[in-house]
Amino acid sequence: MTGTVLVSGGSGYIGGELIRQLLAAGWTVHTTIRNLSREAELRPLLGGTPETLRFFAADLMSDAGWAEAMTGCSHVAHVASPLPANAPQHDDELIVPARDGALRALKAAKAAGVTRFVMTSSMAAIAYGHPRNRTTFTEADWTKIDSPDAYAYVKSKTIAERAAREWVAANGAGMEFCTVNPTLVLGPLHSGDFSTSLEAIKKILEGSMPGLPNFGFGVVDVRDVADMHVRCLTLPDMANERFIASGPFLWMRDIAAILREGLGPQARKVPKRKLPDWLVRIAARFDPVIRQVIGELGHERDADTSHARVRLGWTARPVQDSVLDTARDMIRLGIVKV
Ligand code: NAP
Repeated sequence: MTGTVLVSGGSGYIGGELIRQLLAAGWTVHTTIRNLSREAELRPLLGGTPETLRFFAADLMSDAGWAEAMTGCSHVAHVASPLPANAPQHDDELIVPARDGALRALKAAKAAGVTRFVMTSSMAAIAYGHPRNRTTFTEADWTKIDSPDAYAYVKSKTIAERAAREWVAANGAGMEFCTVNPTLVLGPLHSGDFSTSLEAIKKILEGSMPGLPNFGFGVVDVRDVADMHVRCLTLPDMANERFIASGPFLWMRDIAAILREGLGPQARKVPKRKLPDWLVRIAARFDPVIRQVIGELGHERDADTSHARVRLGWTARPVQDSVLDTARDMIRLGIVKV
């Protein structure tokens, strides 16, 4: 099936890949960006024609533009949400745009007669604030936002998804709502403007870390995350569904090993030694970015993706491909010098 779909955040990593896949499948795509001056730069990266891909200006923090962007759309993928590289001064810098932006998009969608609304949530809304001996999570789990390991981004995604679900339960008759909850997203890049999720690969590849901290993440490919959104937009009976999008959990040392094996001499700066936890804790006292993720140290958070496999027929590609495609594009685009 095809039709007209709104993808919010067309300037983003996941939003861009989703737009490419939807255009290739024959959809007409409306996309929101904050500033229309970016259209000329984005259009060649996304494809389509002025008829099949239309840009609209809309900010998560303002009502302006959302109604216009939704006009004529039967489907919405609400992808936009702040994912900054730096720790915010205050949690609300992320929570307010994430939550209020989702509600703005939902209200405009309902008013426009949209029948299917897919929201990009996150594993961040699932796997935080649980006992450390819990290592495998499913769609039934919810992050506890008052726990010490729930930093600003984690809170923003949890609060936004909960607020959206509550709004839909009260007001969403006639509109099916579901979420895609990815772990760390890696994979090919189309420009030097890349998502914060790729920072870890950049740092390992350029050797800017003195060693490998004991951090790890579930990893999923951007192409597979976009594909899950397409399935959620098109398959029947998606009301209130929730799907984790993840491949395997990788420690930094696993990522380093994949890079060394796949890149040969181009991986010469990839660190080999492990950074002891005590050293990372000291670094966290001085670095707010490390401080906010210090709860991740030694913490394994695997995902059970059987629900997506069974319900959507979705599978993740080999994780080596995602890691190496990220690295090769970072080298090709001059983002890292190896
Ligand atoms: P990204 O490349 O940074 O894209 C974020 C998008 O959100 C951009 O288009 C950005 O627009 C837009 N945005 C941010 N604040 C906005 C605002 N106030 N008004 C309007 N648009 C705004 O990140 P991404 O990796 O593609 O992430 C997309 C979604 O996936 C987010 O909801 C994120 O939470 C979720 N997610 C990502 C990962 C991951 O590892 N990447 C994992 C789980 C979930 P600008 O270009 O103007 O900044």
